[in-house]
Amino acid sequence: MKLFDSFGRHIYYLRISVTDRCNLRCIYCMPPEGVPWIPHDEILSYEEISTIVQLAAELGFTKIRLTGGEPLVRKDIVELVSMLWQTRGIEELSLTTNGTLLKEHAFELRKAGLKRVNISLDTLRTERYRYVTRLGSLQDVLDGIEAARSAGLSPRINTVVMRGINDDEVLDFARLTYQGWNVRFIELMPFTKVAEFVPAEGLRQQIESLGSLEPCSISDSGPAEYYRLSGARGTIGFITPVSKPVCSCCNRMRLTSDGQFRSCLLSDAGIDLKSAMRNNASPQEIKQLILEAVASKPEKHHLLEGVYPKRKMSQIGG
Ligand code: SAM
Ligand code: SF4
Repeated sequence: MKLFDSFGRHIYYLRISVTDRCNLRCIYCMPPEGVPWIPHDEILSYEEISTIVQLAAELGFTKIRLTGGEPLVRKDIVELVSMLWQTRGIEELSLTTNGTLLKEHAFELRKAGLKRVNISLDTLRTERYRYVTRLGSLQDVLDGIEAARSAGLSPRINTVVMRGINDDEVLDFARLTYQGWNVRFIELMPFTKVAEFVPAEGLRQQIESLGSLEPCSISDSGPAEYYRLSGARGTIGFITPVSKPVCSCCNRMRLTSDGQFRSCLLSDAGIDLKSAMRNNASPQEIKQLILEAVASKPEKHHLLEGVYPKRKMSQIGG
């Protein structure tokens, strides 16, 4: 079965936030004191998440990404990966993480069925990493990247570029692709006023000082455009939610850790699957709610008009 929204987009990708909690406080994502955590009993259990994934798979979802908050702070996350990987119809399972806890989990995650990880890393400088994340240690992430590579989790690095904070490191990140790193530069979305975003086009021009950037296609390219510096083993991607939104190709829905099924990262609209499940809705009724959420998916976001979600990224699942 293939699922389409009301604008004819094929919808098959579900991003699941497994927790709103995080061990870091990145300056563009959370305030220093954190945000009020969602109470434990409001968070979906692994059984509830697994049931939703099973029903979504029956409707045509084939691809799952786990995110958060920080997904690796949730207890027994490997168990969830294993449960989801055994779901009939799920063909791809990946995870987005800040990487700080990856060293201890990489091999067991791979064994449980995880295919790949995206690791967020905005700077290669120790002091700056501490400034950007407020709590983290750069070495932990570098160890996590190495562990992910050894475990066969094909790590891809996500770097949010902030003017005046880390935009002087773009070439350092780009050079790492000669060593096989895959790096994606993400435009900063303006939810907070920490810094200005840097348009991807400017980064592309800057990187071309190292050599020409050849466009390359990647299976599962998602919202990114990919290039390769000649002679580099790794790729460079650009994700442009601000300068060039790609809503017309969006294939995803989202499940928040407290069970809201959302159709867009940047919209507050959502359907409360948790309450439905806890009020004994039948599988058929849950599927109907999922279909309604898909049908309500907006054509595009309105970030540039200043329409932001009320929840933080860590609470929705970036
Ligand atoms: N904690 C995990 C991590 O950091 O990878 C997963 C959740 S985090 C909310 C997911 C992604 O959202 C990260 O790559 C982070 O850099 C990105 N993000 C958070 N706030 C953002 C913003 N204002 N603009 C662009 N990306 C943002
Ligand atoms: Fe935590 Fe990820 Fe947000 Fe950083 S971006 S505070 S690691 S959820």
